[in-house]
Parts: sequence; structure tokens; C-alpha cells
Amino acid sequence: MKGYAMLQIRKTGWIEKECPAYGPLDAIVKPIAVSPCTSDIHTVWEGAIGERHNMILGHEAVGEVVEVGSLVKDFKPGDKVIIPAITPDWGSLQAQGGYSMHSGGMLAGWKFSNFKDGVFGEYFHVNEADANMAILPDGVDPASATMLSDMVPTGFHGVELADVQFGDSVCVIGIGPVGLMSVAGAALRGASRLYAVGSRPNCINIAKEYGATDIINYREGDIVEQIMEKTHGKGVDRVIIAGGDNDTFAQAINILKPGGVIGNVNYLGEGDSIKIPRVEWGCGMGHKTIRGGLMPGGRLRMEKLVSLLETGRLDTSKLLTHKFNGFDKIEDALMLMKEKPKDLIKPVVII
Ligand code: NDP
Ligand code: ZN
Repeated sequence: MKGYAMLQIRKTGWIEKECPAYGPLDAIVKPIAVSPCTSDIHTVWEGAIGERHNMILGHEAVGEVVEVGSLVKDFKPGDKVIIPAITPDWGSLQAQGGYSMHSGGMLAGWKFSNFKDGVFGEYFHVNEADANMAILPDGVDPASATMLSDMVPTGFHGVELADVQFGDSVCVIGIGPVGLMSVAGAALRGASRLYAVGSRPNCINIAKEYGATDIINYREGDIVEQIMEKTHGKGVDRVIIAGGDNDTFAQAINILKPGGVIGNVNYLGEGDSIKIPRVEWGCGMGHKTIRGGLMPGGRLRMEKLVSLLETGRLDTSKLLTHKFNGFDKIEDALMLMKEKPKDLIKPVVII
């Protein structure tokens, strides 16, 4: 079979591979629609997970089941399915402890285009199919549903980590596709004032559509000053970090009220440590909680999230700014993600 792969750090290309093998609990799926991710760019061009050779990329897909193992109960060939980016080993001690995303080791629930070939192949392997896939309901657009693999659960996980409650004031730092889903998730969770930090006009407009009440442009002034001015020096109840860099943490601490919570889903790619401003952190006694996490995967989450699309409570089609048709266009879509033109939010490839 054919696949679009990381050949080595900073090098990609089409390769031929054997179709993946599968065990009794697993499935083989062919993609219907896929979307490249900022993480694919970190993986290839920043060497974020170290060297990989001839590894097929991609972890955001909906597909059609081609084969199932002898012990798979709920899926059969021909079923249309959503596959989360994170596909844990559900029997692991970490999963039993409530942290499925770390099954087998820290961050090891992320298998596609990390420990095994990803979804940019003509076929791909899904471990523990009954626990890691969900049926794509009739009437849900496959392209929109690709956003359920990673963008929605990651953005929403930021909201969960920050523990947004009814009426909370919330600041979402970063409004790429992940942060936009944090905005949408915080609005669904009952945020009152919802500050969105970004600069690209396209993202700003869509952030407003998803429920942002105030836009903070980080290129036009210090985030901390802008938020403190808008909140009359009080700060916000919750901060979700979905963009920026190591310094963003310090800004988040600065704008957080005592008792507040930071939920980080941003990938921190540089440096050895993160600085926490001592005084603003209450000299260690400010009850300002920092939480950071990889999105949880699994079937139940996919089923619940797709029900938001079915009922119209969430519209992910707004994220899909660039559409491609045909398997061969995966390369163009990934390169577009690498170049990040200003009007790009997410590219999607309909196979
Ligand atoms: P994007 O690059 O599309 O968006 C980043 C956002 O951050 C943009 O809105 C950008 O603003 C903003 N930004 C950049 N620099 C700053 C700054 N200095 N201060 C404030 N805002 C800034 O990324 P994605 O939405 O695709 O992904 C966000 C992060 O989530 C990435 O790091 C990605 O690796 C990570 N991720 C994490 C996952 C998880 O499970 N935890 C899974 C998937 C992704 P502008 O408008 O100027 O572009
Ligand atoms: Zn992704």
C-alpha cells in the first residue's frame, strides 16, 4: 500500500509498505477523510518526538472498516467510523487509574504517527477496536467529523483541565483550531466573559462565532496589561493555554485570580524549564493551579462528541478552511499546514 511518510527529520515523501497486520482485538480501516495537524509539523520539522524513519504520518481521520479481528464485537467491515488521535491500551494500569492517554508510559496512548504508522496510508491499524472507534452516524459530514479525532477533544480537554464552571470568566490563549475548540467548549460549559487571545482575522471572527466576548490581540500589546485593564485589575477565573510559548505560562499566572486554574494543552517545544512568577503565584501560596494534559482518547468520548455534531450544538465545519479531494492531495494539505497561510485554520482531505 501507499502512504505519505516522515522519511527522517525534516524530510517527507510517498512510500510503499505492506498492509498492516492486525490482532484479534484490532481493526484495519481505510481513510474516508483525513486532516493534517500542527503536531505533524512539530514531528517532522522540529523533531519533536525524535528521529523516525519511513513512518506514515497523520492521526486525524474518519474511515471505513475493512477487516476486524476475531474478538471484535461491535464493528464489521463496511462500518464508517471515527478514530481518535489517542488510542489507549484500556487494560493498562494507567488507564485503570484514569489516565488512559498515558497507557504504557507518559504520552504513550498517542500511537498513530508516533509509535506506529498513522492514518495517511491507504490502510491503517486501530488497536482495541471496540474501545477505540465510534460509529460515524448517518447524516454527519465526514470532513466535519475529522475534527473529532483531535481538535475537539484537545480543545475541550483544556476546558476540562481548567475546570470551567457556570459564570466563570475565562481566557483562552491561542485561537488556532485547538484554541477555537476551547472557546466553543468553554461557552458550552457556561463561561460568562470569554477572552480569546490571537491575531489572525479569520480566527478572531470564528472565535466570536464560537462565543468569545472579547478579543485580545497579543501583537498589539501585552496580554497581561490588556486583560487586567478589561477585568479592572481582578484577572480571570480560568485560563486555557492553546498556543504561545514558555513565557505564556507566566502571563497565565499573572492574569489568574487566586483559586483559579490553568489548563494547558499547548505543546512546549523549547527550553529545559518553565518559569513561574514567584510573587504573582502568591509566593507559592496563591492557590493558582496549573494542569496540563494530553487529550483522552477512546470510543465513549468519540460517541459523546459526535452527538454534539448530530444535535447541532457544535459546528466544526467552520474550522475547515481548505478542502482537498483525493488521497494524492495529502501531501499538498500537509505542506499547506507547514506554510500556515494567514487564512488557514484546518485543511481536510476527502479521500
Ligand atoms: P496554531 O498554531 O494553529 O495556533 C496557535 C495559536 O496561538 C494562534 O492563535 C496564535 O496566534 C497563538 N499564538 C502564537 N504565539 C502566541 C503568543 N506569543 N501569545 C499568545 N498567543 C500566541 O496551533 P493549533 O491550534 O493547531 O495547536 C495548538 C497547540 O496545541 C499546539 O502546540 C499543538 O501542538 C498542541 N496540541 C496539543 C494536543 C494535546 O493533546 N495536548 C493535541 C493537538 C495539538 P495567531 O492568531 O497570531 O496565529
Ligand atoms: Zn492532531
